[in-house]
Amino acid sequence: MIVLKFGGTSVEDAEAITRTARIVAGRREHCPIVVVSALGGATNQLIALAEQAAKGHLIGAVRAVEGLRDRHLAVADALLGSGSEGSEVAAELGAMFDEIAQLAEALSVLGDLTPRSLDAVSAMGERLSSLLVAAAFRRLGLPAEHVDGRDVIATDDQYGRAEPLPEVIAERARAHLLPRVRARTIPVMGGFIGYSPGGVTTTLGRGGSDYTASLVGAALKAEAIEIWTDVDGMLTADPRVVNDSRLIDRIGFQEAAELATFGAKVLHPNTIAPAVRLGIPVRVLNSRRPEGSGTLITFDAPRRAVTAIAGKSGITLVRVGTPRMLMTEGFLRTLFAMFERHRVAVDVVATSEVSVSVTVDDASRLDALLLDLRELGDVAIERHRGIVSLVGSSLSNDAAAMSKALGAMGSTRVHMLSLSATGINLTIVVDADEVAPVMRRLHEAFFSPANPEGV
Ligand code: ADP
Ligand code: ASP
Ligand code: MG
Repeated sequence: MIVLKFGGTSVEDAEAITRTARIVAGRREHCPIVVVSALGGATNQLIALAEQAAKGHLIGAVRAVEGLRDRHLAVADALLGSGSEGSEVAAELGAMFDEIAQLAEALSVLGDLTPRSLDAVSAMGERLSSLLVAAAFRRLGLPAEHVDGRDVIATDDQYGRAEPLPEVIAERARAHLLPRVRARTIPVMGGFIGYSPGGVTTTLGRGGSDYTASLVGAALKAEAIEIWTDVDGMLTADPRVVNDSRLIDRIGFQEAAELATFGAKVLHPNTIAPAVRLGIPVRVLNSRRPEGSGTLITFDAPRRAVTAIAGKSGITLVRVGTPRMLMTEGFLRTLFAMFERHRVAVDVVATSEVSVSVTVDDASRLDALLLDLRELGDVAIERHRGIVSLVGSSLSNDAAAMSKALGAMGSTRVHMLSLSATGINLTIVVDADEVAPVMRRLHEAFFSPANPEGV
């Protein structure tokens, strides 16, 4: 059995869905389970309309609902026609759009958007796409069956970034997916969405459909997980930033996880963990060029000083300094307990004798945390920072690579520098608007034709 995940661009319109069906058809002997994202861009639009409604702009929000309705119905019409299945699916989609319009109305009355209600709205993208894609697959000759992703992905109730409950997921995957696969049908489920124990809709965080695929793959001990997207695989850098980035044939689980965490959006950062536990290979492939071999993420990848470069901006640097830290054993524990209590995740840490610097990706809960941190010492906040990461399994053993990396920084101001404990990730904190130029410079240093040793 294999799990195939198709991202937003792979199901963005009738043509893309038809291509996707062909890919699935070519893998039928592997007993596929299909996980789909919302139609490309739909999640952003749903979130935007929920925000708009909660601000009281109901007319604009309803207009956005109608735009999405038209788009989905046009895709349904192109793929399913107006026969009985076509009308049935159109009616089901229509009912879901009525639900979205009602949610928007409720939000405009309340004037408040809680993470829970935002999940109810943003989950609609995958609820719609999975229903549509399953019906389209049937029309295109595949024995597909729609499965509500929420019936499989059990989570806790941290809306907006819910934690999956793997044991319950395993049970539900055996109940909802396995019998269908055994009956040679192809389950098609929406990624990203789940149910909390109270039966309330949750989501796994942006980009979470990759995570759904690996949770399902791990739950059913799949032989492989394939992530189908709009690029040829994992590349040496984001092609939107570095235009001559190159395909990586094989990459280690650990390297891929570091890259995903530090900005390679091609994979959700949590995708790797469930797969690595069972050693399930993950492949990243291009649904527009299915003949490509993609990137294989596995244990036995070649060891390189630098495999790829990732970057992300919108980082906040928090520095806590206190002379009291000197010789105080419990200081770091107290400090990190505060981060934990406020559910603020830390990416990179550097310490000195009297101060600790940490980077925070999501600064939305920072204000409350700062009140606590100030009890520990002087706190300085630096916003508009970014991180550039150089990832390679033998980076720390390669002094020349390290010095080349630092040399390529030139006169760029560096706010923090850290080599991960595993030695495979050198993270450099710079000003947010330096992220792209620094990525390009490092890429040039390690991957230009004159400097080919990076790959
Ligand atoms: P999907 O909708 O299929 O999940 P995403 O937009 O989430 O697709 O991820 C694919 C995008 O990730 C690519 O279009 C690319 O711009 C970006 N990306 C960032 N870093 C990398 C990288 N190292 N390799 C490949 N793609 C990357
Ligand atoms: N549709 C969701 C998002 O845009 C999940 C995903 O595509 O992976 O974040
Ligand atoms: Mg994605």
